[in-house]
Amino acid sequence: MLRKNELLEIRDLLMNLKQDILTSLEGRIKSNDISDQREIGDIFDDADLEQSREFNLLLTTRERQKLEQIETALQKIEYSEYGFCEDCGENIPVGRLRAMPFATLCVKCKSERESIEEPISVYTEEKG
Ligand SMILES: [Zn+2]
Repeated sequence: MLRKNELLEIRDLLMNLKQDILTSLEGRIKSNDISDQREIGDIFDDADLEQSREFNLLLTTRERQKLEQIETALQKIEYSEYGFCEDCGENIPVGRLRAMPFATLCVKCKSERESIEEPISVYTEEKG
């Protein structure tokens, strides 16, 4: 189990990651000289930032996925569900969470999933 100070630390990490994406997005908007600057300003003032359609249009798929992962992790922290592997239910080690705060699987399950997603042709399993 994660201690409260560890949870708070990871929560901070997640908030920083989220802020990084938002900052880079903001920079991109400014450098692109989007005509409707005022509207963009409104988007950034909006508390429901992620809900806005304009905001989502400006994000790359990858950034959007990352934000979703961050949001999911933050929600889990909120509901005290954070830090458990989604597959086996074991605690995910804090070291792994520090390195990958939005990890939802332990190392073991993650590598198992990856081997399913990316089958290695050399490896053949004999089945009766
Ligand atoms: Zn697991």
